[in-house]
Amino acid sequence: DFETAIKVVIVGNGAVGKSSMIQKYCKGIFTTEYKKTIGVDFLERQIEVDSEDVRMMLWDTAGQEEFDAITKAYYRGAQAGVLVFSSLDLDSFKAIETWKQKVENECGVIPMVIVQNKIDMIHESVIASKEVENLTRKLRVPIYRTSVKENVNVNEVFHYLAKQYLKQ
Ligand code: GDP
Ligand code: MG
Repeated sequence: DFETAIKVVIVGNGAVGKSSMIQKYCKGIFTTEYKKTIGVDFLERQIEVDSEDVRMMLWDTAGQEEFDAITKAYYRGAQAGVLVFSSLDLDSFKAIETWKQKVENECGVIPMVIVQNKIDMIHESVIASKEVENLTRKLRVPIYRTSVKENVNVNEVFHYLAKQYLKQ
């Protein structure tokens, strides 16, 4: 009787909400304070997926994403990936394809999702929804629109990845 553990890497440009998402999902906390790092390699949360116990281990980048310094150790053994951009940051959206390539270069083909975060600010969005649709179709990666702040769709992202992982 052993438990499944899934290493999930959360990548994307700085300030899109990666650390916030990890903290919200694993600890139930959201703060508006900008945190360069949550100070640990990963946080974890136990969930049940199709009556199986799964330990989700969410790896944070510790702010290294800003100068393209994410080490191989970060990606090593990852079994799922989250590609995050912010509704308020066009560059973060344009960088999604590059982030996908980085994950694939280090991890091969693993279940991934694209996350458009900060949808609570959608009225100030700088990215047309058509552009988002085009990209997800081109990359063939499903999209989740989240607000970590309002706790919208965060659990769904990780539940989906766990399900994808278990069914391969
Ligand atoms: P990271 O650099 O990708 O790890 O981003 P952080 O998690 O440090 O978040 C950057 C900033 O965005 C912080 O001030 C967060 O409070 C804020 N933030 C994160 N998620 C959301 C969200 O869903 N909505 C809004 N409005 N702000 C958010
Ligand atoms: Mg961070």
